[in-house]
Amino acid sequence: MIQKKRRGQLIVLSGPSGVGKSTVIAELLHERENTFFSVSYTTRKPRVGEADGINYNFVSEETFEGMIARGEFLEYARYVDHYYGTSLKVINEKLEEGVDVLLDIEVQGAAKVREKCPEAVLIFIMPPSFEELSRRLHGRNTDAEAAIEGRLEKARVECREISNYDYLVVNDKVSAAAAEITAILTAESCRTKYYLDFWKEFDVL
Ligand code: ADP
Ligand code: 5GP
Repeated sequence: MIQKKRRGQLIVLSGPSGVGKSTVIAELLHERENTFFSVSYTTRKPRVGEADGINYNFVSEETFEGMIARGEFLEYARYVDHYYGTSLKVINEKLEEGVDVLLDIEVQGAAKVREKCPEAVLIFIMPPSFEELSRRLHGRNTDAEAAIEGRLEKARVECREISNYDYLVVNDKVSAAAAEITAILTAESCRTKYYLDFWKEFDVL
């Protein structure tokens, strides 16, 4: 029986705040086996409905800076006055076990992941329009008007980084966006490189 030999796939999802990344990720986790969401560390305060250890690990600036000093992050960035970072330890364990790991991170962090892990798959999630993005940010009802304006402005700047991503998915309907991401990940898992060990064993190459 032909077998793939691979670590888990590291998957980066980026896109403007409010585009629906968390919503699409929840759908993916529900539907896809062997997939783990990396819970980031942040110094921002929890929004209504967010829980520590589930949406983020909420920590103080002091704790976060201690983690930076000890080299505990794969990547971290400053975004709208707060730190956000991905802890190395857990994701390495999961990847070694062959589990796919999803990161929900902004564009500076994604660029760092690309540098450090060239095999990562980078997917950018776009809203169907900026009007719809504004509606979603207002509809979420978790940020003050000034914060929403800041996030909308940032969204236009972030979209300039799209060419650094491997794939673009428009989140019009959640189920359709999740299905496209699943298709991308299925295709990525079928790359010939994951079968090379098998063929080498049989001296075909
Ligand atoms: P992000 O994680 O990208 O900041 P969220 O997942 O919090 O975004 O989604 C922002 C808001 O938009 C939420 O209220 C969510 O229910 C809504 N939303 C997400 N995806 C869609 C969609 N495809 N159509 C309509 N509303 C959506
Ligand atoms: P929010 O405050 O809306 O939850 O997130 C703001 C931005 O931070 C989003 O674009 C999100 O993708 C990004 N983000 C969340 N966790 C991380 C992380 O660990 N590293 C980086 N670089 N960005 C993150």
